[in-house]
Amino acid sequence: MQAQLRETAPPPFPYFTEEHELIRQTVKRFCQEEIAPHAAEWDSRGEFPRDLFRKAGGLGLFGIRIDPKWGGSGLDWWSTAAYIESMRHSESGSVNMAFMVQSDITIPVIQELGTEEQKQEFLPPAVRGEWIGALAVSEPGGGSDVAAIKTSARMDGVVSGQKLWITNGCRADFIVLAVRTGPEAHKGISLVLFPTKTPGFSVGKKLSKIGNLASDTAELFFDECRVPKRLVLGESNKGFYHIMRNFQGERLAAALGSLATMDYAIRKALDYGAERQAFGIPIRKYQVWRHRFAEHLTGIEAGRWLVYRALDLVNRGQRAVREVSMAKLYTSELSQKVVYDCMQIFGGFGYTTEYPIGRMWRDARLSTIGAGTSEIMKEIIAKEEKI
Ligand SMILES: Cc1cc2nc3c(=O)[nH]c(=O)nc-3n(C[C@H](O)[C@H](O)[C@H](O)COP(=O)(O)OP(=O)(O)OC[C@H]3O[C@@H](n4cnc5c(N)ncnc54)[C@H](O)[C@@H]3O)c2cc1C
Repeated sequence: MQAQLRETAPPPFPYFTEEHELIRQTVKRFCQEEIAPHAAEWDSRGEFPRDLFRKAGGLGLFGIRIDPKWGGSGLDWWSTAAYIESMRHSESGSVNMAFMVQSDITIPVIQELGTEEQKQEFLPPAVRGEWIGALAVSEPGGGSDVAAIKTSARMDGVVSGQKLWITNGCRADFIVLAVRTGPEAHKGISLVLFPTKTPGFSVGKKLSKIGNLASDTAELFFDECRVPKRLVLGESNKGFYHIMRNFQGERLAAALGSLATMDYAIRKALDYGAERQAFGIPIRKYQVWRHRFAEHLTGIEAGRWLVYRALDLVNRGQRAVREVSMAKLYTSELSQKVVYDCMQIFGGFGYTTEYPIGRMWRDARLSTIGAGTSEIMKEIIAKEEKI
Protein backbone atom coordinates (compact mmCIF):
# COMPACT_ATOMS: atom_id res chain seq x y z
CA MET A 1 0.00 0.00 0.00
CA GLN A 2 1.15 3.48 -0.88
CA ALA A 3 2.38 5.65 2.00
CA GLN A 4 0.13 8.59 2.77
CA LEU A 5 1.59 11.71 1.18
CA ARG A 6 1.59 15.00 3.00
CA GLU A 7 -1.22 17.17 1.76
CA THR A 8 0.32 20.47 2.75
CA ALA A 9 3.71 21.55 3.98
CA PRO A 10 4.55 20.04 7.35
CA PRO A 11 3.80 21.90 10.55
CA PRO A 12 4.66 23.83 12.56
CA PHE A 13 3.83 27.04 10.83
CA PRO A 14 3.53 29.39 13.77
CA TYR A 15 1.20 31.75 11.95
CA PHE A 16 -1.73 29.42 11.43
CA THR A 17 -4.40 28.73 14.06
CA GLU A 18 -7.50 26.55 14.36
CA GLU A 19 -9.48 29.36 12.76
CA HIS A 20 -7.24 29.27 9.68
CA GLU A 21 -7.65 25.50 9.53
CA LEU A 22 -11.42 25.97 9.47
CA ILE A 23 -11.08 28.35 6.52
CA ARG A 24 -8.92 25.78 4.72
CA GLN A 25 -11.46 23.02 5.25
CA THR A 26 -14.42 25.19 4.19
CA VAL A 27 -12.68 26.36 1.01
CA LYS A 28 -11.48 22.85 0.19
CA ARG A 29 -15.01 21.43 0.50
CA PHE A 30 -16.44 24.26 -1.63
CA CYS A 31 -13.80 23.64 -4.31
CA GLN A 32 -14.24 19.89 -4.34
CA GLU A 33 -18.04 20.04 -4.44
CA GLU A 34 -18.76 23.12 -6.52
CA ILE A 35 -15.77 23.77 -8.79
CA ALA A 36 -13.36 20.90 -9.52
CA PRO A 37 -16.00 18.53 -10.96
CA HIS A 38 -16.94 21.21 -13.53
CA ALA A 39 -13.55 22.78 -14.22
CA ALA A 40 -12.91 20.93 -17.50
CA GLU A 41 -16.39 21.63 -18.87
CA TRP A 42 -16.20 25.33 -17.94
CA ASP A 43 -12.83 25.52 -19.66
CA SER A 44 -14.26 24.14 -22.89
CA ARG A 45 -17.29 26.47 -22.60
CA GLY A 46 -14.98 29.42 -21.91
CA GLU A 47 -17.03 30.53 -18.93
CA PHE A 48 -18.05 29.57 -15.40
CA PRO A 49 -21.47 30.41 -13.91
CA ARG A 50 -21.86 33.91 -12.54
CA ASP A 51 -23.67 32.44 -9.55
CA LEU A 52 -20.35 31.02 -8.31
CA PHE A 53 -19.41 34.54 -7.18
CA ARG A 54 -22.54 34.64 -5.02
CA LYS A 55 -21.74 31.25 -3.51
CA ALA A 56 -18.17 32.30 -2.70
CA GLY A 57 -19.49 35.57 -1.30
CA GLY A 58 -21.88 33.61 0.90
CA LEU A 59 -18.91 31.70 2.34
CA GLY A 60 -17.16 34.99 3.13
CA LEU A 61 -14.28 34.51 0.67
CA PHE A 62 -14.42 38.07 -0.68
CA GLY A 63 -14.48 39.87 2.64
CA ILE A 64 -11.77 38.13 4.61
CA ARG A 65 -9.83 41.31 5.47
CA ILE A 66 -12.81 43.65 5.12
CA ASP A 67 -14.33 45.41 8.12
CA PRO A 68 -17.50 43.67 9.44
CA LYS A 69 -19.19 47.07 9.06
CA TRP A 70 -19.15 46.41 5.31
CA GLY A 71 -20.03 42.73 5.54
CA GLY A 72 -16.50 41.36 5.86
CA SER A 73 -14.84 39.24 8.54
CA GLY A 74 -12.10 41.66 9.60
CA LEU A 75 -9.43 38.94 9.58
CA ASP A 76 -5.74 39.09 8.69
CA TRP A 77 -3.47 38.15 5.78
CA TRP A 78 -2.87 34.67 7.23
CA SER A 79 -6.58 34.01 6.73
CA THR A 80 -6.18 35.15 3.13
CA ALA A 81 -3.28 32.70 2.82
CA ALA A 82 -5.47 29.88 4.13
CA TYR A 83 -8.16 30.77 1.56
CA ILE A 84 -5.85 31.16 -1.45
CA GLU A 85 -3.81 28.06 -0.63
CA SER A 86 -6.98 25.99 -0.38
CA MET A 87 -8.33 27.28 -3.69
CA ARG A 88 -5.90 24.86 -5.38
CA HIS A 89 -8.55 22.19 -4.80
CA SER A 90 -10.66 23.95 -7.44
CA GLU A 91 -8.25 22.68 -10.12
CA SER A 92 -9.25 25.80 -12.03
CA GLY A 93 -6.83 28.67 -12.53
CA SER A 94 -9.71 30.53 -14.19
CA VAL A 95 -11.96 30.56 -11.14
CA ASN A 96 -9.04 31.24 -8.81
CA MET A 97 -7.95 34.24 -10.86
CA ALA A 98 -11.48 35.66 -11.13
CA PHE A 99 -11.99 35.30 -7.37
CA MET A 100 -8.60 36.76 -6.57
CA VAL A 101 -9.39 39.88 -8.61
CA GLN A 102 -12.53 40.27 -6.51
CA SER A 103 -11.12 39.40 -3.06
CA ASP A 104 -7.61 40.79 -3.20
CA ILE A 105 -7.46 43.40 -5.94
CA THR A 106 -10.69 45.38 -6.25
CA ILE A 107 -12.37 45.11 -2.84
CA PRO A 108 -9.40 45.91 -0.54
CA VAL A 109 -8.46 49.04 -2.48
CA ILE A 110 -11.97 50.43 -1.94
CA GLN A 111 -11.70 49.74 1.78
CA GLU A 112 -8.30 51.42 1.85
CA LEU A 113 -9.01 54.51 -0.25
CA GLY A 114 -12.77 54.89 -0.42
CA THR A 115 -14.95 57.54 1.21
CA GLU A 116 -17.65 56.35 3.61
CA GLU A 117 -20.19 56.91 0.84
CA GLN A 118 -18.16 54.85 -1.67
CA LYS A 119 -17.66 52.02 0.81
CA GLN A 120 -21.36 51.99 1.65
CA GLU A 121 -22.27 51.78 -2.03
CA PHE A 122 -19.69 49.31 -3.35
CA LEU A 123 -18.36 47.09 -0.56
CA PRO A 124 -21.43 45.19 0.74
CA PRO A 125 -22.67 43.95 -2.67
CA ALA A 126 -19.11 43.14 -3.79
CA VAL A 127 -18.33 41.24 -0.58
CA ARG A 128 -21.57 39.26 -1.02
CA GLY A 129 -20.52 38.42 -4.58
CA GLU A 130 -23.60 40.11 -6.02
CA TRP A 131 -21.50 42.70 -7.82
CA ILE A 132 -18.46 41.59 -9.76
CA GLY A 133 -15.44 43.87 -9.74
CA ALA A 134 -12.52 44.35 -12.12
CA LEU A 135 -9.34 46.40 -12.05
CA ALA A 136 -8.47 48.13 -15.33
CA VAL A 137 -4.96 49.51 -15.61
CA SER A 138 -3.46 47.84 -18.73
CA GLU A 139 -4.05 49.23 -22.22
CA PRO A 140 -3.28 48.01 -25.74
CA GLY A 141 -0.21 50.26 -25.82
CA GLY A 142 1.36 48.66 -22.75
CA GLY A 143 0.82 47.01 -19.40
CA SER A 144 4.24 47.16 -17.75
CA ASP A 145 4.62 50.92 -18.15
CA VAL A 146 1.73 52.05 -15.97
CA ALA A 147 2.81 55.69 -16.15
CA ALA A 148 2.12 55.66 -19.91
CA ILE A 149 -1.63 55.04 -19.74
CA LYS A 150 -3.74 57.10 -22.12
CA THR A 151 -7.39 56.51 -21.19
CA SER A 152 -8.30 60.00 -20.06
CA ALA A 153 -10.76 61.80 -17.82
CA ARG A 154 -11.38 65.50 -18.45
CA MET A 155 -12.02 68.02 -15.69
CA ASP A 156 -15.77 67.61 -16.25
CA GLY A 157 -15.48 63.86 -15.52
CA VAL A 158 -15.80 62.52 -19.05
CA VAL A 159 -13.78 59.32 -19.58
CA SER A 160 -12.59 58.20 -23.03
CA GLY A 161 -10.19 55.47 -24.05
CA GLN A 162 -9.55 51.74 -24.14
CA LYS A 163 -8.38 49.04 -21.73
CA LEU A 164 -7.10 45.56 -22.56
CA TRP A 165 -6.61 42.27 -20.71
CA ILE A 166 -9.17 43.06 -18.04
CA THR A 167 -10.04 40.03 -15.91
CA ASN A 168 -13.78 39.82 -15.09
CA GLY A 169 -14.18 42.66 -17.60
CA CYS A 170 -17.06 41.18 -19.63
CA ARG A 171 -19.39 40.82 -16.68
CA ALA A 172 -18.07 43.35 -14.18
CA ASP A 173 -20.62 45.57 -12.46
CA PHE A 174 -17.94 48.05 -11.52
CA ILE A 175 -14.35 48.72 -12.46
CA VAL A 176 -11.55 50.25 -10.46
CA LEU A 177 -10.34 52.26 -13.42
CA ALA A 178 -7.02 54.03 -13.92
CA VAL A 179 -7.36 57.19 -15.99
CA ARG A 180 -5.12 60.02 -17.08
CA THR A 181 -6.09 63.27 -15.38
CA GLY A 182 -2.92 65.27 -15.91
CA PRO A 183 -0.05 65.64 -18.38
CA GLU A 184 2.78 64.43 -16.12
CA ALA A 185 3.47 60.71 -16.58
CA HIS A 186 3.03 59.17 -13.15
CA LYS A 187 1.80 62.32 -11.44
CA GLY A 188 -1.18 62.61 -13.76
CA ILE A 189 -3.11 59.40 -13.09
CA SER A 190 -6.24 58.96 -10.95
CA LEU A 191 -8.47 56.06 -9.99
CA VAL A 192 -12.23 56.10 -10.39
CA LEU A 193 -14.95 53.68 -9.38
CA PHE A 194 -16.64 53.11 -12.70
CA PRO A 195 -20.15 51.55 -12.85
CA THR A 196 -20.36 49.54 -16.07
CA LYS A 197 -23.95 50.64 -16.66
CA THR A 198 -22.55 54.10 -17.50
CA PRO A 199 -23.63 55.13 -21.02
CA GLY A 200 -20.76 54.99 -23.52
CA PHE A 201 -19.13 51.93 -21.93
CA SER A 202 -18.86 48.76 -23.99
CA VAL A 203 -17.06 45.44 -24.01
CA GLY A 204 -15.17 45.10 -27.29
CA LYS A 205 -14.49 41.42 -27.15
CA LYS A 206 -13.64 38.58 -24.86
CA LEU A 207 -10.03 37.66 -25.61
CA SER A 208 -9.19 34.19 -26.80
CA LYS A 209 -6.38 32.80 -24.61
CA ILE A 210 -4.21 29.71 -24.29
CA GLY A 211 -4.95 29.20 -20.59
CA ASN A 212 -7.36 30.25 -17.84
CA LEU A 213 -9.96 29.55 -20.50
CA ALA A 214 -13.03 29.90 -18.29
CA SER A 215 -12.02 33.30 -16.99
CA ASP A 216 -13.18 36.32 -18.93
CA THR A 217 -10.43 38.63 -20.13
CA ALA A 218 -11.83 41.66 -21.88
CA GLU A 219 -11.14 44.52 -24.18
CA LEU A 220 -13.08 47.54 -22.91
CA PHE A 221 -14.10 50.80 -24.56
CA PHE A 222 -14.99 54.10 -22.90
CA ASP A 223 -16.65 56.56 -25.23
CA GLU A 224 -17.33 59.91 -23.54
CA CYS A 225 -18.49 58.21 -20.32
CA ARG A 226 -19.65 60.68 -17.68
CA VAL A 227 -18.35 59.80 -14.20
CA PRO A 228 -19.47 61.96 -11.24
CA LYS A 229 -16.71 63.46 -9.09
CA ARG A 230 -17.92 61.52 -6.05
CA LEU A 231 -16.57 58.35 -7.72
CA VAL A 232 -12.92 59.45 -7.75
CA LEU A 233 -11.15 56.85 -5.60
CA GLY A 234 -8.35 58.19 -3.40
CA GLU A 235 -6.51 61.39 -4.19
CA SER A 236 -6.68 62.90 -7.68
CA ASN A 237 -3.40 62.52 -9.60
CA LYS A 238 -2.09 60.07 -6.97
CA GLY A 239 -3.46 57.07 -8.85
CA PHE A 240 -0.04 55.78 -9.88
CA TYR A 241 1.04 55.53 -6.25
CA HIS A 242 -2.29 53.97 -5.26
CA ILE A 243 -1.84 51.36 -8.02
CA MET A 244 1.73 50.56 -6.96
CA ARG A 245 0.58 50.09 -3.39
CA ASN A 246 -2.33 47.91 -4.46
CA PHE A 247 0.07 45.80 -6.56
CA GLN A 248 1.65 44.62 -3.31
CA GLY A 249 -1.50 42.78 -2.26
CA GLU A 250 -2.07 41.50 -5.79
CA ARG A 251 1.49 40.17 -6.10
CA LEU A 252 1.43 38.60 -2.68
CA ALA A 253 -1.84 36.86 -3.54
CA ALA A 254 -0.32 35.77 -6.87
CA ALA A 255 2.73 34.33 -5.07
CA LEU A 256 0.44 32.41 -2.70
CA GLY A 257 -1.43 31.11 -5.75
CA SER A 258 1.76 29.91 -7.45
CA LEU A 259 2.87 28.22 -4.26
CA ALA A 260 -0.47 26.44 -3.94
CA THR A 261 -0.43 25.36 -7.59
CA MET A 262 3.03 23.82 -7.26
CA ASP A 263 2.14 22.08 -4.03
CA TYR A 264 -1.00 20.61 -5.55
CA ALA A 265 0.59 19.61 -8.86
CA ILE A 266 3.40 17.79 -7.11
CA ARG A 267 1.01 15.80 -4.90
CA LYS A 268 -0.96 14.81 -8.01
CA ALA A 269 2.24 13.84 -9.82
CA LEU A 270 3.52 11.79 -6.90
CA ASP A 271 0.20 9.95 -6.62
CA TYR A 272 0.23 9.19 -10.34
CA GLY A 273 3.86 8.11 -10.22
CA ALA A 274 3.02 5.65 -7.44
CA GLU A 275 0.19 4.05 -9.44
CA ARG A 276 1.66 4.03 -12.93
CA GLN A 277 4.19 1.32 -13.62
CA ALA A 278 6.88 1.18 -16.30
CA PHE A 279 9.29 -1.71 -16.71
CA GLY A 280 7.69 -3.44 -13.71
CA ILE A 281 7.99 -0.76 -11.03
CA PRO A 282 6.11 2.44 -10.12
CA ILE A 283 7.61 5.32 -12.09
CA ARG A 284 8.02 7.35 -8.93
CA LYS A 285 10.58 4.83 -7.70
CA TYR A 286 13.06 5.71 -10.43
CA GLN A 287 15.85 7.77 -8.96
CA VAL A 288 15.59 10.36 -11.70
CA TRP A 289 12.03 11.18 -10.55
CA ARG A 290 12.76 10.88 -6.84
CA HIS A 291 15.59 13.38 -7.23
CA ARG A 292 13.58 15.69 -9.45
CA PHE A 293 10.75 15.82 -6.93
CA ALA A 294 13.17 16.15 -4.00
CA GLU A 295 14.65 19.18 -5.74
CA HIS A 296 11.24 20.71 -6.46
CA LEU A 297 9.97 20.10 -2.94
CA THR A 298 13.07 21.91 -1.67
CA GLY A 299 12.35 24.81 -4.01
CA ILE A 300 8.73 24.96 -2.89
CA GLU A 301 9.78 24.97 0.75
CA ALA A 302 12.19 27.85 0.08
CA GLY A 303 9.42 29.67 -1.81
CA ARG A 304 7.00 29.14 1.03
CA TRP A 305 9.27 30.87 3.51
CA LEU A 306 9.93 33.71 1.09
CA VAL A 307 6.18 34.21 0.62
CA TYR A 308 5.41 33.89 4.33
CA ARG A 309 8.18 36.35 5.18
CA ALA A 310 6.68 38.92 2.75
CA LEU A 311 3.21 38.16 4.05
CA ASP A 312 4.29 38.65 7.66
CA LEU A 313 5.68 42.11 6.81
CA VAL A 314 2.55 43.11 4.88
CA ASN A 315 0.35 41.76 7.66
CA ARG A 316 2.18 43.96 10.16
CA GLY A 317 1.74 46.98 7.89
CA GLN A 318 5.44 47.23 7.07
CA ARG A 319 6.97 48.15 3.72
CA ALA A 320 7.71 44.95 1.81
CA VAL A 321 8.17 45.95 -1.84
CA ARG A 322 11.46 44.02 -2.05
CA GLU A 323 10.14 40.89 -0.35
CA VAL A 324 6.81 40.81 -2.21
CA SER A 325 8.56 41.24 -5.57
CA MET A 326 11.03 38.47 -4.72
CA ALA A 327 8.23 36.17 -3.59
CA LYS A 328 6.23 36.79 -6.80
CA LEU A 329 9.30 36.38 -9.03
CA TYR A 330 10.59 33.25 -7.36
CA THR A 331 7.33 31.32 -7.04
CA SER A 332 6.00 32.18 -10.51
CA GLU A 333 9.27 31.21 -12.21
CA LEU A 334 9.66 28.04 -10.15
CA SER A 335 6.07 27.04 -10.90
CA GLN A 336 6.94 26.86 -14.63
CA LYS A 337 9.53 24.15 -13.98
CA VAL A 338 7.56 22.31 -11.33
CA VAL A 339 4.28 22.10 -13.23
CA TYR A 340 6.15 21.18 -16.43
CA ASP A 341 7.81 18.22 -14.69
CA CYS A 342 4.58 17.23 -12.96
CA MET A 343 2.92 17.10 -16.36
CA GLN A 344 5.83 15.12 -17.79
CA ILE A 345 5.36 12.20 -15.38
CA PHE A 346 1.80 11.76 -16.68
CA GLY A 347 3.24 10.91 -20.10
CA GLY A 348 0.58 11.01 -22.85
CA PHE A 349 -2.25 11.43 -20.34
CA GLY A 350 -0.71 14.73 -19.26
CA TYR A 351 -1.24 16.03 -22.77
CA THR A 352 -4.95 15.23 -22.77
CA THR A 353 -7.73 17.30 -21.26
CA GLU A 354 -8.85 14.30 -19.20
CA TYR A 355 -6.41 15.05 -16.41
CA PRO A 356 -6.31 18.39 -14.59
CA ILE A 357 -2.51 18.54 -14.86
CA GLY A 358 -2.65 19.77 -18.48
CA ARG A 359 -4.98 22.58 -17.46
CA MET A 360 -2.72 23.47 -14.53
CA TRP A 361 0.25 23.70 -16.88
CA ARG A 362 -1.61 26.01 -19.27
CA ASP A 363 -3.01 28.15 -16.47
CA ALA A 364 0.31 28.44 -14.63
CA ARG A 365 1.98 30.00 -17.67
CA LEU A 366 0.27 33.30 -16.93
CA SER A 367 1.97 33.69 -13.56
CA THR A 368 5.22 35.17 -14.92
CA ILE A 369 3.24 37.68 -17.01
CA GLY A 370 0.18 38.84 -15.03
CA ALA A 371 0.38 41.13 -11.99
CA GLY A 372 3.74 42.42 -13.26
CA THR A 373 6.10 40.37 -15.40
CA SER A 374 9.23 38.66 -14.11
CA GLU A 375 11.34 41.29 -15.86
CA ILE A 376 9.47 44.05 -14.03
CA MET A 377 9.89 42.18 -10.71
CA LYS A 378 13.65 42.09 -11.36
CA GLU A 379 13.64 45.82 -12.16
CA ILE A 380 11.93 46.54 -8.85
CA ILE A 381 14.26 44.26 -6.88
CA ALA A 382 17.31 45.84 -8.53
CA LYS A 383 15.97 49.29 -7.66
CA GLU A 384 15.24 48.27 -4.07
CA GLU A 385 18.76 46.83 -3.78
CA LYS A 386 20.17 50.00 -5.38
CA ILE A 387 22.00 47.95 -8.02
C1 LIG B 1 -4.92 36.66 -18.77
C2 LIG B 1 -4.51 38.03 -18.39
C3 LIG B 1 -5.23 38.71 -17.41
C4 LIG B 1 -4.89 40.03 -17.09
N1 LIG B 1 -5.66 40.72 -16.18
C5 LIG B 1 -5.46 42.07 -16.03
C6 LIG B 1 -6.36 42.85 -15.25
O1 LIG B 1 -7.33 42.35 -14.68
N2 LIG B 1 -6.14 44.19 -15.18
C7 LIG B 1 -5.09 44.80 -15.80
O2 LIG B 1 -4.96 46.02 -15.67
N3 LIG B 1 -4.20 44.07 -16.53
C8 LIG B 1 -4.37 42.73 -16.66
N4 LIG B 1 -3.50 41.98 -17.42
C9 LIG B 1 -2.38 42.66 -18.09
C10 LIG B 1 -1.04 42.29 -17.53
O3 LIG B 1 -0.85 42.92 -16.30
C11 LIG B 1 -0.01 42.71 -18.59
O4 LIG B 1 -0.12 41.80 -19.67
C12 LIG B 1 1.38 42.72 -18.05
O5 LIG B 1 1.54 43.74 -17.11
C13 LIG B 1 2.41 42.97 -19.19
O6 LIG B 1 2.03 44.04 -19.96
P1 LIG B 1 1.98 43.87 -21.57
O7 LIG B 1 1.22 42.64 -21.87
O8 LIG B 1 1.48 45.14 -22.14
O9 LIG B 1 3.47 43.63 -21.97
P2 LIG B 1 4.58 44.76 -22.20
O10 LIG B 1 4.53 45.75 -21.11
O11 LIG B 1 4.47 45.24 -23.59
O12 LIG B 1 5.90 43.89 -22.07
C14 LIG B 1 6.29 42.96 -23.08
C15 LIG B 1 7.59 42.28 -22.63
O13 LIG B 1 8.59 43.28 -22.42
C16 LIG B 1 9.10 43.15 -21.12
N5 LIG B 1 9.47 44.46 -20.58
C17 LIG B 1 8.68 45.54 -20.40
N6 LIG B 1 9.36 46.52 -19.78
C18 LIG B 1 10.62 46.05 -19.56
C19 LIG B 1 11.76 46.57 -18.93
N7 LIG B 1 11.77 47.80 -18.36
N8 LIG B 1 12.87 45.79 -18.87
C20 LIG B 1 12.88 44.55 -19.40
N9 LIG B 1 11.81 43.99 -20.01
C21 LIG B 1 10.68 44.73 -20.07
C22 LIG B 1 8.02 42.52 -20.30
O14 LIG B 1 8.53 41.91 -19.13
C23 LIG B 1 7.42 41.54 -21.30
O15 LIG B 1 8.18 40.38 -21.30
C24 LIG B 1 -3.79 40.65 -17.71
C25 LIG B 1 -3.04 39.94 -18.67
C26 LIG B 1 -3.40 38.66 -19.03
C27 LIG B 1 -2.60 37.97 -20.10
